[in-house]
Amino acid sequence: MSPSSGSAAMDESETNVTNGAHVVSVLPTRPRPVPDGTVNGSRVERTLPEHAVPEAPAAATLAEDLLGGEPAKADARYDPAAVAVVALLEALGVPRSEHTADTPGRVARAWRFALRGYCADPRRHLTVTFPCEPGAPLVVQAGIRITSTCAHHLLPIVGVATVAYRPSKGARIVGLSKLARVVTEYAARATVQEHIGGETARALAEMLSVDGAACVITAEHGCMSLRGVEQAEARTTTTSLAGKWTATHPDVAEVLAAHRAEAHRR
Ligand SMILES: [Zn+2]
Repeated sequence: MSPSSGSAAMDESETNVTNGAHVVSVLPTRPRPVPDGTVNGSRVERTLPEHAVPEAPAAATLAEDLLGGEPAKADARYDPAAVAVVALLEALGVPRSEHTADTPGRVARAWRFALRGYCADPRRHLTVTFPCEPGAPLVVQAGIRITSTCAHHLLPIVGVATVAYRPSKGARIVGLSKLARVVTEYAARATVQEHIGGETARALAEMLSVDGAACVITAEHGCMSLRGVEQAEARTTTTSLAGKWTATHPDVAEVLAAHRAEAHRR
């Protein structure tokens, strides 16, 4: 599994961000706290007594907790993600209050859930297969709700996906829920809509024996509605095809019709 591009620069070095009169140091993505509360020499350690900073949840249980649908609980101190949230709140001038006292831990847990798609390879859902009757029917699953995070702005992407494939003659099929699991897990990363669809269609084509596979997504992007061009009504549709399917294949017309009917219902 390859992480999405775009975050490498922040991994390498500290960045200075000006906030009014003073400059604060934004932590690299993996700060290492020491027992006295200092974190890579950054001034954020002075905020620890006022903002509760939980410890990172155990890696062994994280994937299970997150992929089971429940965010991991982390109530001890020094979760690096929570430390980074303290730095972000400070850098943006958010005043401390009763409301924000536990915000760093909450935000870290929320982001771990939003980015749970890095915990395991979504293709694992396609390893258990079943025999299929000889007809090799077209399988179209429409109306899959997805939420994702834009890799460029870390703002939400919310939409509906259609996942489809036609098994090759005599090939095996997967359980229907796995189609939804694959696309929702690819979505649970810092990514772009085009990649979610492409990775899902390719996973089906490469893990199963198919004539063709498709993933069609229609979504609203927070980076277009909440900022920048401020187009709250704009929705983007991407069509990703794999296997022998091309845009003019009759199966693809059927997949697109099913997707349109579902996407326009919302
Ligand atoms: Zn964006």
